[in-house]
Amino acid sequence: MSRYPRENFILSGFICIAFGAFFTVAGVYTLASTVGVLGIILFVFGMSLRSKLGLSESAIREWRPDEGQLPDAGRVMYRVDVTMDEPIESTIVCGPCGKITVHPGPRPDSFICPSCQVQLWVAEEE
Ligand SMILES: [Zn+2]
Repeated sequence: MSRYPRENFILSGFICIAFGAFFTVAGVYTLASTVGVLGIILFVFGMSLRSKLGLSESAIREWRPDEGQLPDAGRVMYRVDVTMDEPIESTIVCGPCGKITVHPGPRPDSFICPSCQVQLWVAEEE
C-alpha cells in the first residue's frame, strides 16, 4: 500500500485536528470533539510508528550498490560491502561481469564469482 504509513497517519491527524478546530469555531461542538479526538489519536499513533517502521533504517538494510561493471585497472576489480547490523551480509560486486552476489555472513576468505567463475580474491596465507 503506502510507502510512508507514518507520514500518512501524521498528515491525517493534522487534517482532523484542523477540522476539529474549524468546527469548534463554527459552534458544532459534538462534531468538533469527535473529529478532534480522532485527529489526536491518529497523530499519536503516527508518531508511535517511528520505532517500528523507521524509513531510514529499512532503506539502509535494503540498500544495494548499483550493478555494473567496474573499471578495469589492469587487475581484477571487485567491491565488497558488509552490513553493519544483523543479519550480517556481504554484497560483492564482480568487476569483470558486473554481477552482484549476496553472501551471508562477513566477507569470505576467498571468493569466486558464480557468474563468470573469476576468482576475485584469495586469502593471503603464508
Ligand atoms: Zn563475475
